[in-house]
Amino acid sequence: MLEIKNITKKYKTGDFTQTALDNVSIKFRKNEFVSILGKSGSGKTTLLNIISGLDHYDSGDLIINGKTTKKFKDKDWDSYRNNSIGFIFQSYNLIPHISVLKNVELGLTLSGVSKKVKQKKSLEALKRVGLLNHINKKPNQLSGGEKQRVAIARALANDPDIILADEPTGALDTKTSIQIMELIKEISKDKLVIMVTHNPEIAQKYSTRIIELSDGKIQSDTAPYNEQDTTNTYTFKKTAMSFLTAISLSFENIKTKKGRTILTAFASSIGIIGISIILSLSNGFDKQIDSFEQDTLSSFPIIISKETAVIDKDSLTQLATINKQETKKVIYSYDRQTESILHTNKIDNNYIEYVENIKKDNYDAITYIKTTNFNLLINNKINTSSTFNMQSLPLNLDTLDNYINTNYELLSGKLPTKKEEILLYVDSKNRLDTNLISAIGLEEKDEYNYNDFLNIEFKIVNNDDYYLKYNDIYTINNDIDSISKKDLLKIKIVGIVKAKEDNAMARMEEVGYISSNGGILYPSELQDYVIEQNKTSKIVTDQKKVNYNILTKQEFTTKEEKENFLGYLADDSIPYAIYIYPKDFDSKDNILKYLDDYNQDLSDDDKIVYTDMAKTIVDMSSGIMDAITYVLIAFSAVSLVVSGIMIGIIIYISVLERTKEIGILRSLGARKKDITRVFNAETFIIGLSSGILGIVIAYLSLFPINKLLLNLTELENVAKMSPLHVVLMIAIAILVTSIGGFIPSKMASRKDPVEALRTE
Ligand code: ADP
Ligand code: MG
Repeated sequence: MLEIKNITKKYKTGDFTQTALDNVSIKFRKNEFVSILGKSGSGKTTLLNIISGLDHYDSGDLIINGKTTKKFKDKDWDSYRNNSIGFIFQSYNLIPHISVLKNVELGLTLSGVSKKVKQKKSLEALKRVGLLNHINKKPNQLSGGEKQRVAIARALANDPDIILADEPTGALDTKTSIQIMELIKEISKDKLVIMVTHNPEIAQKYSTRIIELSDGKIQSDTAPYNEQDTTNTYTFKKTAMSFLTAISLSFENIKTKKGRTILTAFASSIGIIGISIILSLSNGFDKQIDSFEQDTLSSFPIIISKETAVIDKDSLTQLATINKQETKKVIYSYDRQTESILHTNKIDNNYIEYVENIKKDNYDAITYIKTTNFNLLINNKINTSSTFNMQSLPLNLDTLDNYINTNYELLSGKLPTKKEEILLYVDSKNRLDTNLISAIGLEEKDEYNYNDFLNIEFKIVNNDDYYLKYNDIYTINNDIDSISKKDLLKIKIVGIVKAKEDNAMARMEEVGYISSNGGILYPSELQDYVIEQNKTSKIVTDQKKVNYNILTKQEFTTKEEKENFLGYLADDSIPYAIYIYPKDFDSKDNILKYLDDYNQDLSDDDKIVYTDMAKTIVDMSSGIMDAITYVLIAFSAVSLVVSGIMIGIIIYISVLERTKEIGILRSLGARKKDITRVFNAETFIIGLSSGILGIVIAYLSLFPINKLLLNLTELENVAKMSPLHVVLMIAIAILVTSIGGFIPSKMASRKDPVEALRTE
């Protein structure tokens, strides 16, 4: 049934070649007890290793049931070992961290039989060696003889045809040796037992055949066998270790080094903790911003302005570069036309009609802002209102309070309640343009009190008082005294305001979209009054008849210029801005969609670009959040890499520690793949625990973090961990550790099983 034919095995160490087996041929009977005798170094162990397939012959052949093994692949040897061979070693070679029963079951586990069969066969084997009472002990809790019985039970469990024993009694006392030898003799009744021993007495007493080796050659054979082998029935049964078995093996192993594993898992969880917290924070902030947008920002108007900045990521970068100080002494060419972020909206009556058709239930109000010039008498001088950077508020007196309160902060005074009351507005740094200050008539200083401006009065001069006509030619009336004696409408600064910090205006000022130098805001009723007054003035009537500027005789460049300069607006004059106040968040979406529809099929130039104030703010703040998130994640990722390397080292140490186990598993028929699997299982366990640990620690630390944020920002429960992040983080932890453990696991599988068995 088993035959070795002209087997030669040489070991090369450096220049020196040791011939361990020299042209050895032996034929074995199906049942016999063969003792291999010989001095130390004569090649006995080598012979056994070759018979077992743990080591491979250089030349010759090993024939099993008539089948040559010359073409055996690794997996064939593994299956042969698992099915046909049972090993008994001098040093027992039990796996220390698993129970006696588990040790015995191991070979069966590899052959993939059911749990029930596995247990039944193992218990039978343990019964046979008389160890039924010890099945739950760990090997270290047994005596030497008992250990060897476990090893014998393990060799028998899978019911192999061949039992190989390498000095099985070498480490035992005489009394125990006899018991073990009796056991092996018993076994040899229905199996082929090949036992290596250097003890001739034992060989004489128990075996049926003694083969003596010397320097790798057969010296004598007491019962040679030469019959023709007729069996040719060798079949392969695949062996495989399930991942679950690998997990349980590694889990038992890890249990023996709890402290180290916990520390490792903790250290490698640091990256996971970092990333989890960051993700929770940014997740929470995004949600906060979303709800902020829903609640508050929907009240911000959608603005369609004649000139509008296209505020997107590109233009923001552009603004940033514009603001940067150039130190190089060179001049750059710059095409304002193509590089400008300003887009001119061609608002016309068509478009106004389109806007008017927005579904009524979507908006609270639509206001059209038209601004016109008028003449103001202050400080004994007449100026046009443009000098004062005067702007009409988009809402009338009834609805003005709400608008001002949302967008501005009242620094001093009160809000207008009639058309004659106006507001002074300062920029975000409380500044006011010097031109305006001097036009008002205040002396030049660095600082002013609010009271210096409050209650300052302007008088509105009508066209008929200001423009005089002689012989069809208009001139400006320079007689301020006579003008000021007339009954003029007085307007008064009643309050000082500033754009709110988180307000759209302030934001736009910040990014340089609007340069607010401060100015004056007036109720739209004032503008209506001025227009009404000037509409019927002589100069306007005359101006309407001609297309050139009636004062300077120059052509107007635009229609608006003509309409504005005399404080008059045609009924059909186009507003310079349209403000649409959506009812709520959803209706804002509807409106935006409606406005977008208008732009379909239009060229870029003809498109009407609106500014969604709320969105601009949100984009900017969430953009910053995103950037911060990426940076922090990058940092944490570095710690993940570190933990990956650390895991690699830990697994490498584990491979060194478990080398013997690798050898044992291989001798039981484990494939290289299975060995990789054992260590992958170990990394998996560490990865999983570090992931879970990381998530738990991160989750717990969210409580103090949220508390801190509540104190700092008054935002409640900002950091939120989403279930997706939990799954993702655990997956990442497992992935990182797997990568770290990959190389050591591969190294483990490549270990030479013979050498692995030899390590202590
Ligand atoms: P025995 O078991 O009879 O004591 P071995 O079969 O272990 O002898 O060894 C036979 C010879 O081969 C010895 O000289 C030993 O030094 C040598 N040998 C065995 N294994 C190796 C090896 N892996 N590398 C180099 N030499 C080896
Ligand atoms: Mg030996």
